[in-house]
Amino acid sequence: MSASIEQLSCQELVELVTDYLEGALPEAEQNSFLHHIEGCTGCREYVRQMRETIALTGRLTPADLSPEAEAALLAAFRDWKSR
Ligand SMILES: [Zn+2]
Repeated sequence: MSASIEQLSCQELVELVTDYLEGALPEAEQNSFLHHIEGCTGCREYVRQMRETIALTGRLTPADLSPEAEAALLAAFRDWKSR
């Protein structure tokens, strides 16, 4: 295996996504990033969702919960309280 473009793992891509969306990635890393999402549906979807989140909230909030995750957590919390 001798790739001329450095291969990113999905984990590495997730760590770079905020820099990518801020346009803060160095060119070489951005190329690796784009190369990865070209061939990885999961990461492409992740980047799309991040973009949407930013469009909706106007900020980068990768730690924010999705509505589904938040609802599940709240339900779990209610269960716990009613014991
Ligand atoms: Zn990936």
